[in-house]
Amino acid sequence: MKLIDGKAVSQKIKEDLKLRIDQIKAKGERVPGLAVVLVGENPASKVYVANKIKDCEQVGIKSIHCHLQEHTEKAELIKTIEKLNNDKEIDGIIVQLPLPKHLNENEILSHISIHKDVDGLSAYQMGKLTLGIPELTPCTPSGVMEMLRYYEIPTEGKRAVIIGRSNIVGKPMAMMLMKENATVTVCHSRTKDLAEICSKGDILVAAVGKARFVNSDMVKEGAVVIDVGINRVDGKLCGDVDFDNVADKCSYITPVPGGVGLMTRAMLLLNTLKAYELYA
Ligand code: NAD
Repeated sequence: MKLIDGKAVSQKIKEDLKLRIDQIKAKGERVPGLAVVLVGENPASKVYVANKIKDCEQVGIKSIHCHLQEHTEKAELIKTIEKLNNDKEIDGIIVQLPLPKHLNENEILSHISIHKDVDGLSAYQMGKLTLGIPELTPCTPSGVMEMLRYYEIPTEGKRAVIIGRSNIVGKPMAMMLMKENATVTVCHSRTKDLAEICSKGDILVAAVGKARFVNSDMVKEGAVVIDVGINRVDGKLCGDVDFDNVADKCSYITPVPGGVGLMTRAMLLLNTLKAYELYA
């Protein structure tokens, strides 16, 4: 079994990014910019936002942090987003989720310019991905594809099974693996014979949100197992895969922490540079 090292792969991506941004700086041109909008005081969201700002600093992306109060009205938040849409120094906009209950997330996110949608979750960006002509793609599944590429894990002709059909992970993951010529099955909460289907996967991606959900009965001998899950059990992080139970059966496996999560962070930076190159 080989461990897929998210730290090493994300570090490499960040180093490459830094070089590319250094070249932009050396030419005296404007560097890419990312705006992170936080509404309220959710402690986990604050940590995520701080990480994003730190990541930007590391590679030389300019970042703006817009922190609005918990009770901010819809109109004020939309005004903030529209101002960022028109800001020529900003290439990407992230509104940190979850938003306070009185704000409708889908409605708010729909105000982000499709050209600054570095989460890749707008109808336009998801549509482009679905048509097989991706521009800005959702960060988590993009990070998974980068890991597979880095370790030269073939996808063509392979059976890929994804557990989870969310817009943020499962669905775009299916599109990306299909584009790379895998034969893809997407499982979800109503799937029958889940273990049997999973155990046929050469590549198994778990994005369920249930701690240690995937056990060795669900894993094919020699499979590549990608654990997207982030769960907190007794104050410790663990994935959707029962790592100790499954690891011996896999050819490759990602750990939690130290796996997909770090890749998601790196892909946000890459998308910001992509948006700068594509649309600025
Ligand atoms: P979600 O709740 O939106 O979707 C979960 C999916 O799992 C659903 O499609 C559901 O049908 C399926 N599911 C639930 N119970 C099931 C069952 N018993 N059998 C089969 N399928 C079942 O979650 P999400 O946003 O896609 O996130 C999934 C996990 O990935 C969570 O742990 C989340 O924290 C994590 N996540 C991690 C990253 C990262 O960067 N590593 C990014 C996003 C999400």
